[in-house]
Amino acid sequence: MNIEACLYIVATPIGNLGDITLRAVETLNKVDLIAAEDTRHSQRLMSHLGVSTRLLSLHEHNEREKSQAIIDKVKEGQNVALISDAGTPLISDPGYFLVKLAQEQGVKVVPIPGVSAVVTAISVSGLPSDRFVFEGFLPAKSGNKQRVLELFKFESRTVIFYESPHRIVDTLELMLTVFGESRRLVLARELTKTFETIKGDSLGPLCEWVKSDANQQRGEFVLLLEGAVDVPDESEIDQDKMLALLIAELPIKKASKIVSEVTGANKKELYQRALEMQGKV
Ligand code: SAM
Repeated sequence: MNIEACLYIVATPIGNLGDITLRAVETLNKVDLIAAEDTRHSQRLMSHLGVSTRLLSLHEHNEREKSQAIIDKVKEGQNVALISDAGTPLISDPGYFLVKLAQEQGVKVVPIPGVSAVVTAISVSGLPSDRFVFEGFLPAKSGNKQRVLELFKFESRTVIFYESPHRIVDTLELMLTVFGESRRLVLARELTKTFETIKGDSLGPLCEWVKSDANQQRGEFVLLLEGAVDVPDESEIDQDKMLALLIAELPIKKASKIVSEVTGANKKELYQRALEMQGKV
């Protein structure tokens, strides 16, 4: 009987090399080829696991170009595994294009699950974990980053971000500006590694703590933001948006009057809200 070849999506550790499943090792040993983000990096893990399967490079810059050739190998009967530098492929890592192409062409895709920093972090964060939003990496530039953060101002679910050491301080400072100093944040640094740190506090003190200790700015980070408690209803959000747009163009008295006429909201309250928005109260 001919057994159909597959594309396996295999999770690898995010630090501690013990965090690999038996099934992952078995799969990496039995496949004909492993597509890896950085072959030199993955070679060290393979040597540690005693896996001698051939590695081929597949990273964000060549994924589109190389995916078809990998799919063709599976169609020819070769089993292929995809791994990334750490954790689960496709989670802020390459692989989306390859998996989509495989599925479009009827190639079987098999998950070999394991660790991912997002799930590892929320499991120890002490924040609500029944519903959460994973945003991955924020944009690099501060202006764009702030605009994305603003989108989560009224999000009631826990929001999870990935962050790198050279952007951590800038990101925490922007979070402080957008969410205020009393919003809670959990910083999960170097998970499963020697300097693993899981610290939750209000944004004000947490930001100060990271800024005052260079060691806390090193390594890899997952940031978990507590959801908003006082979420205004949709009409209030629209009202705010309308008011913000108008006060950029008109005197606030006139802007409040127009918004009041359109929404039926109290003119005096809108005037007060406009003053708050302009930082005048
Ligand atoms: N595929 C990985 C996963 O499943 O989590 C994520 C890869 S992404 C390129 C790398 C980012 O994941 C890091 O910048 C950091 O935000 C997060 N990360 C990975 N390993 C981590 C660790 N040991 N501790 C904290 N965050 C980690």
